[in-house]
Amino acid sequence: MQIAVFSTKPYDRRFLDAASAGTGHRLTYFEARLSRETCDLAAGADAVCAFVNDEVTADVLENLASKGIKLVALRSAGFNNVDLTAAKRFGITIARVPAYSPHAVAEHTLALILALNRKTHRAYNRIREGNFALEGLLGFDLAGKTVGVVGTGKIGEVVCTILAGFGCKVIAQDPYPNPACVAMGVTYMSMDELFSMSDIVTLHCPLTPETRRLVNHDMIGRMKKGMMLINTSRGAVIDTEAVVHGLKEGIIGYLGLDVYEEESDLFFEDLSARFIDDDLFARLLTFPNVLITGHQAFFTKEALASIAETTIANITSFEQTGQTKHEVSIEKIVR
Ligand code: NAD
Repeated sequence: MQIAVFSTKPYDRRFLDAASAGTGHRLTYFEARLSRETCDLAAGADAVCAFVNDEVTADVLENLASKGIKLVALRSAGFNNVDLTAAKRFGITIARVPAYSPHAVAEHTLALILALNRKTHRAYNRIREGNFALEGLLGFDLAGKTVGVVGTGKIGEVVCTILAGFGCKVIAQDPYPNPACVAMGVTYMSMDELFSMSDIVTLHCPLTPETRRLVNHDMIGRMKKGMMLINTSRGAVIDTEAVVHGLKEGIIGYLGLDVYEEESDLFFEDLSARFIDDDLFARLLTFPNVLITGHQAFFTKEALASIAETTIANITSFEQTGQTKHEVSIEKIVR
């Protein structure tokens, strides 16, 4: 198949080239994000391959359908950027990569927790300036702390396993409790209880209408003073303005983010020679107790290899059978 691959960096190309070797697929790489403005780049392709910040909206899908494109293969697990109703209307199949090393995201979550707690990011800078003072670097033992895990699917389950290994008391919220988590001693409870009891809350649910702005003024009002909030799921699961207020009030004592609601204008690009034209993001950067990474939790060799292999397998299967193993459709997400 002829495939127009959007939002690609050199590392994506390396892994996709390796995964597609010998399949006969012809991949054309574009650095541009898929959007109304760029979808004409897909002319002549049979399928489009898209990433997390590509805009797979009704307009874009209509345009792709008019070019005869029948498949959009996502290189991600999340599909909140896709208008599934429009995909059905225009007869376009959407495939995703439902699982690729949940360890990558889970381990990055722990990296954020540990760095924020022990202030590794600040210690790194101090030592380089010859400042060996410890004042301001005081941390706490993770052992014995209560950690709330919101969403105990593939990533949340690995997070629970790691946290249990640290000796934490792990509590969770998920409309579908995971038997593996129950077996390791995780206690499920209501969202309100979880937020009021946790020393650390880490978010691993998808972005859906129910989880959009889940962490809002109301939920922050229930938090333990000085708690740690970690978000490696999707930016819009938290209300960032409310979180800034929570930081200023000292309710949120530590904030670790790998995702941001308006990240598509910032992340994955080198903007170091420009200014940041997002006042809310710039405000977050002023807090010493905020640590932000640019959507890199998935970014391990194992995860990139697995993403590329599943993406190419989805495309090959669609070419051979008209179906993909990992289709996501409006019918399939209504449980
Ligand atoms: P998954 O589908 O295996 O698990 C998601 C879990 O969330 C499920 O158990 C589901 O029941 C639960 N859930 C759904 N609605 C909920 C709600 N209202 N409250 C609590 N729980 C709810 O997905 P996964 O592979 O574990 O990934 C989780 C999310 O992580 C993805 O949706 C994606 O947004 C994000 N993610 C981020 C990165 C990154 O690089 N930062 C990479 C991969 C995935």
